[in-house]
Amino acid sequence: MHYEDNRAFACAQDKIDPLRAFREKFNFPLSRDGRAPVYLCGNSLGLQPQLAVQFVEEELQNWKDFAVDGHFHSDHPWISYHRRCVSGFAALTGALESEVVAMNTLTVNLHLLMASFYRPTNDRYKILIESQAFPSDRYAVTSQIRMHGYDADSGLLEWTPRDGESRLRTEDLEAMLHEHGESIALLLLPGVQYYTGQVIDMAAVCDLGRKHGCAVGLDLAHAIGNIEMALHDWAPDFAAWCTYKYLNAGPGAIAGAFVHEKHCSPQNLEQLHGWWGHDEATRFKMAKSFTPAAGAELWQMSNPPILSLAPVVGSLQVFAEAGFDRIREKSRQLTGYMDWLARTRYGDRIGCITPEDARGCQLSLVVKDSAVDAKALFDRLCKLNVTPDWREPDVIRVAPVPLYNSFEDVFEFAERLTTALANA
Ligand SMILES: *Cc1c(COP(=O)(O)O)cnc(C)c1O
Repeated sequence: MHYEDNRAFACAQDKIDPLRAFREKFNFPLSRDGRAPVYLCGNSLGLQPQLAVQFVEEELQNWKDFAVDGHFHSDHPWISYHRRCVSGFAALTGALESEVVAMNTLTVNLHLLMASFYRPTNDRYKILIESQAFPSDRYAVTSQIRMHGYDADSGLLEWTPRDGESRLRTEDLEAMLHEHGESIALLLLPGVQYYTGQVIDMAAVCDLGRKHGCAVGLDLAHAIGNIEMALHDWAPDFAAWCTYKYLNAGPGAIAGAFVHEKHCSPQNLEQLHGWWGHDEATRFKMAKSFTPAAGAELWQMSNPPILSLAPVVGSLQVFAEAGFDRIREKSRQLTGYMDWLARTRYGDRIGCITPEDARGCQLSLVVKDSAVDAKALFDRLCKLNVTPDWREPDVIRVAPVPLYNSFEDVFEFAERLTTALANA
C-alpha cells in the first residue's frame, strides 16, 4: 500500500474504509484533556461494544422478569447460553464448533487443560515455554510441575531469542526438541508473543510437538481476534484465550478453550469433572454417575456466569458482522501505516522490535535515541491523551485495532509522538 504523511491522506483512507461504520458501534473513553483520545491499547483491554452493553442489559432484565425460569424459558435460556459463543469462537480460531467452549478465565483454563494434557512420567516430565512468557503462564506451568512432584527448575525449558535478537526462531525450537524432545511432556506457547508482538508459526510448533511426542497447548490471548488461525488443521491438543483483549468483551469476561476433536470422542482422557461437563440431556436427573458431554463442553465445570458471558456474545456478533477477512485486511493497512510513519519520521530515534513479516495489530516500539528516556516519553504520550501501554523494561506497545481505530487515529498518534519527542 502507498502511504503519505499528512492528515488529508489519513482522512481519505477513512472515507473509503469498508469498516468505517464500526467505529460508531464502540464507546470511547472520556477525554483526559478535552481533545479526542487516541486509544491504542486494544491489545490489553478492548473498547466497549455497544452490543455488549445491550446483551448484558437483556440478561439483567431476564433475571428480573423470569428469575429461576430464565434457565429454561427466556429467549436465550441460560442452560445453553454458552453455546452462543461457539460459532464466533470457531470462526475466529479455525476450529470445529464441537472443539470450542466458553468457560472460566484464561489461566484457570490453562490449569484445567493441563490437568488433562500434562501427564508427566519420570522419563517425560518437562514443559517447554518461551523465555519471555507472560508471567501467569509461567506461574501456571511451574506450579503444575511442582504439583506433580517434579523440580520446577529442571522441569522447565525455555525457548529463547538469540543474543541481540528479540525474535523467536522456529529453527531454534527445532534444535531444542531434537536435543531434549524425549523428556518434554508439553509445549505451552503463545500464538502472538505479548511483548514483541511476534506471530509464532503455530503450524510449525504443532508439527514439531507431534513429531517429538509432546503435547501442544497454545495460549491465544493476543492472537484471537487479531490474526487468522486454523486450529483444527494445525491440531494442537488444546488452546485457551481470554476475551477482553482484541475480543472486546470487557475486564475479566469469560474466556475460551479449544480441545482438538481427536480428544473429544471417544473419551480417552481424564478431566476434572463438574456437573456442566455432564451430558445436558440427563444432567438434571442428578445421577451419581457421570455421563460425559460431547466435545469441548466436557471440560466445563460450573454453570457459567451469564453476566460475564453476555458481553462475549455481543462482541462476537460485531466480529461476525464485520467479517474477519475485512478486519485483517484493514489491520495490515493500519499497522503498516503506523510502522511507515514511525520509520519515516523517527527512524533514527525510535525502533520497532515487532517483525514486519510476522505481526498482527501490535507494534512494540523501543527508543533508540540515548538522549530520550523511554518511560518519560510514554508518560508524555499519556498526558497528550494517547493510550499506549508500557511493558517493562523498555517497550511502548501500540495496537491500532481495525474495528474501531481509524487512519486518522494513527496519523494523530504520529503527531502527538512528535510533540512528545520535541519535549524530550
Ligand atoms: C493477558 C494474558 C493472560 C491473562 O490471564 P488471565 O487469566 O485472563 O488473567 C495470561 N496469559 C497471556 C499470554 C496473556 O496475554
